[in-house]
Amino acid sequence: EGAMSVGDFAKLLQREPAELIKRLLLLGVMATINQEIDTDTMELIASDFGVTLHVVEPVDEEALDMLVEEDDPASLVPRPPVVTIMGHVDHGKTTLLDAIRESKVTATESGGITQHIGAYQVEIADRQITFLDTPGHEAFTTMRARGAQVTDITILVVAADDGVMPQTVEAINHAKAANVPIVVAVNKIDKPDANPDRVKQELTQYGLVPEEWGGDTIFAPISALKRQGLEELLEMVLLVADVQELKANPEGRPRGTVIEAKLDRGRGPVATVLVQNGTLKVGDIVVAGTTYGRVRAMVNDTGRRLKTAGPSTPVEIQGLNGVPSAGDQFVVYDDERGARNLVEKRMSREKQEQMQNTARVTLDDLYRQI
Ligand code: GDP
Ligand code: MG
Repeated sequence: EGAMSVGDFAKLLQREPAELIKRLLLLGVMATINQEIDTDTMELIASDFGVTLHVVEPVDEEALDMLVEEDDPASLVPRPPVVTIMGHVDHGKTTLLDAIRESKVTATESGGITQHIGAYQVEIADRQITFLDTPGHEAFTTMRARGAQVTDITILVVAADDGVMPQTVEAINHAKAANVPIVVAVNKIDKPDANPDRVKQELTQYGLVPEEWGGDTIFAPISALKRQGLEELLEMVLLVADVQELKANPEGRPRGTVIEAKLDRGRGPVATVLVQNGTLKVGDIVVAGTTYGRVRAMVNDTGRRLKTAGPSTPVEIQGLNGVPSAGDQFVVYDDERGARNLVEKRMSREKQEQMQNTARVTLDDLYRQI
């Protein structure tokens, strides 16, 4: 989706491929001329050459009208940060996500019946933090490929016994392209061969300089396995959130992004959505991608039924007439007919695009045969 080979991208920028390959190396990406690079990397390279790259997303006029509703600044109130965890494979992303979720489970009275809904909230110092439960780059890249930005802060996990690795660099590039601040969690400090200073040293090459060395990146030493340093890490995340002054209007039109969705045998289509503005309520008519429906029930990550869900709250909703895709935006419509019309329009356009693609493929095949 939107990716391009190094060679083609060089042509677009009117540069020599070798020049691009050199720049990619500086970003820590080893590439050949035929290798595909993603849109985030393309944006970074383009800006290196002084070119601003606009990744064009298909515009949906009606939806845009509904989404671009100005909120009165006076109606904005602080909202919890939405955090994703990224890092190289085996550096401890899943362990960290589990550790943070568990610390919360023991704290709730419900006895720890957590649901996997693709996102969860934890409370620290009387404040909430929302975590997207998709470790790795999926949450980031699938969402961004669809024009959705949900992440406010990225925790970059780097194992202290392994240091900066290729996916560490990739994660940094994604976060930079999306303008999302990074908090570095130096993990596995319990290991005898842990070398947190080396991690700091290596990351300076990528512009992540710790405060004690004159930079502004926060480094938190942790052991996800031994549950050490987690509270401090979360407090640092809140500190970064304070700087961002994240706000939303709980009274505005409810909208947000689909985090994940599936067809459940008993309950039909269920979608985990992140509410980004407004307050979603049971009974609301929702359009999400090419699906719509009235919200029949909402459940949070502890399995509790909710009647309302405000900004930065992840909830699993029932009542859509189909399964939307991760990254689809959702918006609440005033009437069911308007919702149905929009969805029908989108579906027929999608069908048309598919037909055009098929036609193109057939033509290509034809040429190949000739
Ligand atoms: P992911 O691929 O980034 O999700 O990494 P995992 O969370 O699956 O962890 C990879 C391995 O590292 C597992 O065997 C974990 O038990 C181990 N691990 C994760 N965090 C720590 C830690 O803080 N200390 C130690 N010693 N091992 C850890
Ligand atoms: Mg994992």
